[in-house]
Amino acid sequence: MKPKTLQQAIRHFSDEQVCIDTIAALRWPNGPVCPKCGSTEHYYLATQRRWKCKECYKQFSVKMGTIFEDSPISLDKWLAALWMLVNCKNGISSYEVGRDLGITQKSAWFVLHRLRLALQSGSMERMGGNGKHVEVDETFIGGAARNMHRDKHRRRITDTGTKDKTPVMGILERGGEVRAMMVPTRRKHHLQAEIRRHVKAGSAIYTDALLSYQGLKHQDFKHEVIEHAEKYVDGQVHTNGLEKFWSLVKRGLKGTYISVEPFHLFRYLDEQVYRFNNRELANDGERFQKALLQIAGKRLTFSEVTGKVGAAACC
Ligand SMILES: [Zn+2]
Repeated sequence: MKPKTLQQAIRHFSDEQVCIDTIAALRWPNGPVCPKCGSTEHYYLATQRRWKCKECYKQFSVKMGTIFEDSPISLDKWLAALWMLVNCKNGISSYEVGRDLGITQKSAWFVLHRLRLALQSGSMERMGGNGKHVEVDETFIGGAARNMHRDKHRRRITDTGTKDKTPVMGILERGGEVRAMMVPTRRKHHLQAEIRRHVKAGSAIYTDALLSYQGLKHQDFKHEVIEHAEKYVDGQVHTNGLEKFWSLVKRGLKGTYISVEPFHLFRYLDEQVYRFNNRELANDGERFQKALLQIAGKRLTFSEVTGKVGAAACC
């Protein structure tokens, strides 16, 4: 029986052995493999819920070598947090997860950041190709003035322009997936380098009239521009798919996360990209299952998450 709702999931994973069996089955479809030496010969030590390798005699748990490693948080809480993260449309804050799971906000913040890493697709394959339609657009994110120290607040709201905002670029293949990345600036060489990195030659690319996109025609792309000052849709020529994605990103950041340091922004983007690219899966259980499958083999330490050990945790 696979859970289909949050309530079913919490009940289902309240048994630690069920958590272990679920993760082990996804991680090792052909049976457990020793993370130390790669051997598949082992005993199961049922009382300790660990395996003992017959080759190197080391013991290992299902958490070893995954984002759960070294965490004192129990697996039932990890899995409930993952369920919420991949299925709450606007994201979920560490305050909420902390309250719901009975852990501190700081622990919840760390749990969520590790989970976001697991959601990163990391696909390096280019999108699009001949006959494919790709939308490219950029936006600025950040600078929410609420809940900010007064000095910081004054500095941010009196500053003009987009100084405190981070430029983010999105690329969406119609009928395919979306990718989003932070870019240093909106200048031509930054934006077009990302296009070449992520989009196959021959694709039809749709953008707004930003000058940075000029010249794509000479790089084996078909390029059509929508003049947003005049209209938003001209037949095939529009960036409405990305507009929809941006509105989800911004709603999540404004409503749930309030203020995100630019350093962490890419993790929130990964989270939203995951939900967007998997929005057509049949149910919450499938989105959860797929995310859990990505977890094995990914590890993240506290210093990697924060950039420095003991950094202040936000939302
Ligand atoms: Zn071994």
